[in-house]
Amino acid sequence: MTSDLAVPANRPAASDVVVIGAGAFGSWTAHHLSNAGARVALVDAYGPGNSRSSSGDESRILRCGYGAAAAYSRFARRSRELWRELEARHDAGLPLWHQCGVLWTSSTEDPYLAQTLATLTNGPYAAQVLDRASLNSRYPPFETGDVVRALLEPDAGVLMARRSIQALAAEVSKQGVDLVRAEAVAPSTAGRMTALRLADGSELPADRFVFACGAWLPTVFPELLGQKITPTRQVVMYFGTPPGDERFTGSRLPAWIDFGTGMYALPDLEGRGVKLGIDTHGARFDPNTGERTLDGESLRAARGWLRVRIPGLADAPLIESRVCQYENTSTGDFLIDRHPDHKNVWIVGGGSGHGFKYGPAVGEYVAHMIATNTDPDVRFSLATKGTVASRVIY
Ligand SMILES: Cc1cc2nc3c(=O)[nH]c(=O)nc-3n(C[C@H](O)[C@H](O)[C@H](O)COP(=O)(O)OP(=O)(O)OC[C@H]3O[C@@H](n4cnc5c(N)ncnc54)[C@H](O)[C@@H]3O)c2cc1C
Repeated sequence: MTSDLAVPANRPAASDVVVIGAGAFGSWTAHHLSNAGARVALVDAYGPGNSRSSSGDESRILRCGYGAAAAYSRFARRSRELWRELEARHDAGLPLWHQCGVLWTSSTEDPYLAQTLATLTNGPYAAQVLDRASLNSRYPPFETGDVVRALLEPDAGVLMARRSIQALAAEVSKQGVDLVRAEAVAPSTAGRMTALRLADGSELPADRFVFACGAWLPTVFPELLGQKITPTRQVVMYFGTPPGDERFTGSRLPAWIDFGTGMYALPDLEGRGVKLGIDTHGARFDPNTGERTLDGESLRAARGWLRVRIPGLADAPLIESRVCQYENTSTGDFLIDRHPDHKNVWIVGGGSGHGFKYGPAVGEYVAHMIATNTDPDVRFSLATKGTVASRVIY
């Protein structure tokens, strides 16, 4: 059932589903819904893969290791398949995926790494334990003298995030999904929603609505999510490698999660330099108005880590930096549930600093739930989302 409100000529007349947010979660949801035969409109205030969105950053790690959380490992594996299929269909000459592997190291006997190894080796995943000698011989630029545990996922790697989302958006548009650049407004009254209100006053009628608004969810639904999703400022920095030097490229080095230090590194991909990210949560951040300039403290932390871990880059120049945002739930579990006041409205988000890789599987899951009118797994439900940070999924 759709409303008969007037719709501007450049807007789709009526859809089965309107998806709000063309990041990883929303774009893949639109893809799967459209593949299942639904008429879909995909609305984004700034466009797919825009620079404010978390999915609009250059690159994101895809790994299957998730401690004891085997469901997340399965989702990651399924997502990897679907990203690879997208890459195979995408013919722009530039890769969406770099299979450089992902290395986990820890300087303590951290149970999370032991659980990750157990999950991976008990399932259909590739995982190798590396001793000190193999670390040194495989990755000479890495200084790992104090590492007590090292685990490599050779099938893992790095997705080119913005490029992938823009490729997917172009594909869904060819499939018939209406891409609309507009700011959506949350429903103001309870009950079944019949049309999405846009900030310019027009409306998009549909049967169902999926709000996949990333770090904007607490702004769109302040009463419901203001305390349950916390956007935080997160910094990544690119350090330049020496001229003519291939030792730091993705064909020689994996992405590296240096567990316990709060830092991770991506190899030099496509000439951008070695990327360092700080995973420790930063200050609360407004994704619309927040200034995205690098601060001295983050740069000092990155240089301190480089000096210890990749000493060959200790004095490397900072050549680029970016400020992005996480959209954290209390535990790091995703939020996938119906809106309690609107049974035909779904909320999909809470990527919590690790959601990008999951776009394909989350989209598939949401499309299936909409088609079958089923309830989500309890771990994704709104009821399980607290207001005090206690991260268990990362
Ligand atoms: C520094 C950093 C490093 C990360 N590293 C990794 C990693 O290595 N691996 C990994 O898997 N994940 C990683 N993540 C997390 C991942 O990027 C996010 O979880 C994921 O991209 C979130 O996708 P999304 O679709 O939920 O949100 P977004 O990509 O933010 O998309 C939300 C979209 O909604 C639109 N929107 C919002 N409000 C409205 C509105 N009212 N009307 C219309 N449109 C609206 C926005 O314009 C935006 O395009 C990282 C995140 C950061 C910040």
